[in-house]
Amino acid sequence: MTNTDEKLESIFDEVVRRNAGEPEFHQAVREVFDSLGRVVAKRPDYLEDALIERICEPERQIIFRVPWTDDQGRVQINRGFRVQFSSAMGPYKGGLRFHPSVNVGIIKFLGFEQTFKNALTGLPIGGGKGGSDFDPKGRSDGEVMRFCQSFMTELHRHLGEYTDVPAGDIGVGAREIGYMFGQYKRLTNRFEAGVLTGKGLFYGGSLARKEATGYGNTYFTQAMLETAKTSFDGKRVVVSGSGNVAIYTIEKVRACGGKIVACSDSSGYVVDEAGIDLELLQEIKETRRGRISEYAELRGSGVHFVSSEKGSIWDVPCDVAMPSATQNELMEEHATTLVRNGVMAVSEGANMPCTPEATRVFREAGVRFGPGKAANAGGVATSALEMQQNASRDRWTFQQTEARLATIMREIHDACYTVADEYGAPGDYVLGANIAGFIRVAEPMRA
Ligand code: GLU
Repeated sequence: MTNTDEKLESIFDEVVRRNAGEPEFHQAVREVFDSLGRVVAKRPDYLEDALIERICEPERQIIFRVPWTDDQGRVQINRGFRVQFSSAMGPYKGGLRFHPSVNVGIIKFLGFEQTFKNALTGLPIGGGKGGSDFDPKGRSDGEVMRFCQSFMTELHRHLGEYTDVPAGDIGVGAREIGYMFGQYKRLTNRFEAGVLTGKGLFYGGSLARKEATGYGNTYFTQAMLETAKTSFDGKRVVVSGSGNVAIYTIEKVRACGGKIVACSDSSGYVVDEAGIDLELLQEIKETRRGRISEYAELRGSGVHFVSSEKGSIWDVPCDVAMPSATQNELMEEHATTLVRNGVMAVSEGANMPCTPEATRVFREAGVRFGPGKAANAGGVATSALEMQQNASRDRWTFQQTEARLATIMREIHDACYTVADEYGAPGDYVLGANIAGFIRVAEPMRA
């Protein structure tokens, strides 16, 4: 080990010690550190001024009580979080996740990733993340509304269009953003459109925001496929998940000529060799908030449902895999199966869906691998475009917004590709994304 490697290891050990019991955060930091060796070897000045230590320590962490009343009149208590990770590049920006698995370690990992992701977009946004261990599953509209209002009653004092601008993530869509925006407006007496993104279209939301993460990942993957002189045309594609990211990935991949043969939710997956019927999926998932097994029941013969206890969606052979459900959903054994079945590209629609072991399997097998902080940046990039529209009191067309998104995704792809080349690892998008993201955050911090 060189001196700089040793120094990096001791910084990492300190991060683990300081953030005990937060394995997802350690995992996200480790992954970036594995790329930093090459940076500090070239640029030892990055070890000065505690730049790396500073990047790993959130600027502010807020944890609060969220009391709300359920439909039976009982008081329920949840925990709310906002981790304001870095304002080096602009106001904190990142989604809110409502899911029972949420804890401070999960929010910190997401905030850390978000900081680099936002830097990669090239737009002036810092990094943050928040959420709650509230489980919206099975809750009525009224319960979700009362929860959101209570959540915002505390969170609003930490927000502002020049301070911190949340959006959605798992469990938070247009409905929840609407309830929270209404409460912010009532508490502050300000129509501050730029304080939340992912808003409804009639009060400052942007066209193409809903589609942006899935479309963006499709553009990114398309750019990766082009480097192999191929395209989505005629490819078998598996997209895990069936939420916002998955649905619009399916739509765009299909438009690019790919065939999506499987998708999933936490209960299991469906295989439809004729290609997933997007309209039916949307009806079940977006309109009725139903389960994926209903897809097989309604679509009839030729389609089968496999429950999560019985198998994994990654058993389904494909050319391109786009994990778009949640963190660590794709593990080493799944990666090995995908490689054996001939996968040529994997691109992360979710945040950190592949474990480090799975990522290693793909990279060693020469599979083109798009890391989430680059591949799924289209969502937050379009949030920044929503902020631009709000700040200029303007409204762009769908085509205008999508065209900007497509350009941004192309730029992110090219930046990762070029930097990987420069640092002696051609085609390694993980390294490219980590190094390009790190430099873009470190420079303004030093300044
Ligand atoms: N939650 C999304 C992400 O992981 C979007 C964040 C945003 O739009 O602020 O990037």
